[in-house]
Amino acid sequence: MPKEMSRRTLIELSVAGAAALAGAEAKALDRPTLPGDQKIGFAVVGLGKLAQGQIIPGLRKAKSAKLVAVVSGHPDKARRIAAAEGLPADAVYSYDDYDRIAKDPRIQVVYIVLPNSMHADYTIRALKAGKHVLCEKPMATSVAECQAMIDAAKAANRKLMIAYRCHYEPKNLAAMRKMRSGALGKPRLFVTDMGRQADVSDPSDAWRVDKSLAGSGALGDMGIYGISASRYILNEEPVEVRAWANTDPADPRFKTVDDLIAWQFRFPSGAICNGSTSFNYNATMSYELWGEKARLRADPGAFYGGNRYEMVNGGAFTSIDIAEVDQFAREMDWMADVVRGKAPMVSPGEEGMQDMRLISAILESAAKGGTPVKTDWGYRRAVDPAAVVDIVA
Ligand code: NAD
Repeated sequence: MPKEMSRRTLIELSVAGAAALAGAEAKALDRPTLPGDQKIGFAVVGLGKLAQGQIIPGLRKAKSAKLVAVVSGHPDKARRIAAAEGLPADAVYSYDDYDRIAKDPRIQVVYIVLPNSMHADYTIRALKAGKHVLCEKPMATSVAECQAMIDAAKAANRKLMIAYRCHYEPKNLAAMRKMRSGALGKPRLFVTDMGRQADVSDPSDAWRVDKSLAGSGALGDMGIYGISASRYILNEEPVEVRAWANTDPADPRFKTVDDLIAWQFRFPSGAICNGSTSFNYNATMSYELWGEKARLRADPGAFYGGNRYEMVNGGAFTSIDIAEVDQFAREMDWMADVVRGKAPMVSPGEEGMQDMRLISAILESAAKGGTPVKTDWGYRRAVDPAAVVDIVA
């Protein structure tokens, strides 16, 4: 970590946070690039857009993780990708022979990159096969599925991590630390808008508007980033939600899922969050926090790259400039280091379940025309990413 960054960051942190960060820096130094044969082996399940565009390229750059197998329903595609990545023919699995991974010692972590309704089944089967699991967001399509996944991980004594890349992304981490440092003062208003236009001519979007495969529409796909950001930036949990949905019945995309959903969270600190998500508005992944003393603006705040973070004081904008990292390589390295016992679990199944509970509460309130729904379940995240994840990889 550059000295300047280290000093500035430490000054901003509380005493407890600084102590934890010092530990994290030590851990970072203790996590060198491993030789190929010592890297943790990942099997990628589902070879769609994210797997091909981000995850497999991320594994090529990872320090502690490497691709060792692929699982797909399309044998030709799977063989082509495996060959391009230098994998042997026996490292290609189909959904039918998926459970055979139990006998494959090359695979230590299974990364689930399937449509949301398949997450629980494929996660639980991987855990039963004795593998650790990294599962894409949203964790599943119901709270009951999330609980079953957590229970399966406990029963198998294996790690279950949810792929919340923003928990490991340097600018989001810097934003969390700004908030924790007191630089913004008491938090008042958090505003977040996460959505885009869905293009159902693309198979990758077609399932996203099919409730049976996606669980919910834009809310679970994009809105979840805003739900999660309000929680990790404010470092507290909402106690109440009100939500409204507005869906054009004439739009053929929205037969089984809502289009526009807007919600309000009430937090114990007194902060209010105004959130929105849609598959029918211009693409955005932004959040903004108004504190008593200053404002933090992240627009965009959760893209794969090119995120912009600014502190705003009156009319003065100061950008938080931190080098970009490959968010996927970073997240998979973190998972590998959790498996190696070199890093704490930051985004466990319980985190995914909390977002799923909030998604359910938002949908419940929206279905009741904005009736308040209590969300005070007593959940607290076990590990604050701002305290343990190093900003510079
Ligand atoms: P995709 O549609 O491009 O890929 C899904 C894969 O699953 C495809 O290879 C498809 O063939 C396969 N599949 C198996 N059974 C299927 C079925 N019944 N219907 C449709 N596809 C089926 O989707 P994606 O964009 O790669 O998303 C996959 C997962 O990753 C989702 O859970 C999504 O929420 C998540 N995701 C996360 C991020 C992130 O930034 N963390 C970004 C994009 C997607």
